[in-house]
Amino acid sequence: MKDLFDYCKFGEFKLNSRIVRTGLWESEREKSGNFTPEIYDRYENLAASGVGLIITELFSLYPRDVFSKYSNTVNHVRFVREAKDLTDLVHDYGVPIFAQLGFVQFNKKTEQNIKIEDVTIEDIRKIQTDFIIAAQKFDYAGFDGIQIALGNYYFLTRFINPYFNKREDKYGGSTLNRLRIVLEIIKVIKNTTNLHINCRLNAFDIQKGGMTLEETIEIAKLLEKHGADSLQITRPRSPQYFSNENYGKKLLASACNDIIDNVDIPVIMGGGLKTQRQINNVLNKTKVDFISMQRPFVYDPSFLVDWQIEGDGEVKCRTCNNCYWKKTSTCFINPKAQLNVNPY
Ligand code: SF4
Repeated sequence: MKDLFDYCKFGEFKLNSRIVRTGLWESEREKSGNFTPEIYDRYENLAASGVGLIITELFSLYPRDVFSKYSNTVNHVRFVREAKDLTDLVHDYGVPIFAQLGFVQFNKKTEQNIKIEDVTIEDIRKIQTDFIIAAQKFDYAGFDGIQIALGNYYFLTRFINPYFNKREDKYGGSTLNRLRIVLEIIKVIKNTTNLHINCRLNAFDIQKGGMTLEETIEIAKLLEKHGADSLQITRPRSPQYFSNENYGKKLLASACNDIIDNVDIPVIMGGGLKTQRQINNVLNKTKVDFISMQRPFVYDPSFLVDWQIEGDGEVKCRTCNNCYWKKTSTCFINPKAQLNVNPY
């Protein structure tokens, strides 16, 4: 029997549980772009909660990107020094931490949000170089891994999706060609850093001409073959998914199962599960070994401490989505959530 609080292996790491915390917005960022005391406090609370692996909020690659004002940026002058303090703090609790990196729009001088087919080969080299430099900063800052954002609707997500990528050169057309920009990034990160490479992928979407599960599986296999060390599968952008929540959860678990059948690297299933019982059910009825959660940690960074004691926990987040839409890392229902418990 698997249990969410199992000590377990995730690639080269030993985890304190099967729960992966995924981050979204870093709203406490100061105007100057550096880490604030609130951010250090939050990460210490998360690390002490019994979580297995922490994936940070998004680190924005480009300062003028659409989400940059809600994110820390890797380009800040003090980034490496301050991030090193953060990773040291988390490592004190024996928890590995990955840095999530992505961007939505590619802006060139005065040109805003350039379309995939208008991105030149020089632009592709610039994007790849920027990714690799950011990865090297993460490595210097003591992160254990990098999460490359290929899920939701980030730039690289659209680049690998046939609905958006209509290029006719070697970066468009076949699955391999659309993924080439990412595979080339992975190769250099692999050769120049010690980072574990995780890729976050959508399970599928049902846009006509978009991503199918079969294509996601093909992408997962190619990512593994070219050096990715693990995957995180996010909830699909599918009306089917959102029309019936329970059906959607089964769909995601089933998609993750199919992906796991085709790769030999760890696969994290995206969130949405509400109770300890539901999570253990998925762990024991499917091949899924790792579950990521996001909003429950915004509501209360300490909820896993209570779950370990109670044994029958339930997420208190009401999924109102205010924190998501208002792009803040603070809960609107439980704004004073604090963790004062160190379980170790
Ligand atoms: S603001 Fe809403 S969705 Fe976000 S953590 Fe709080 S209850 Fe959950």
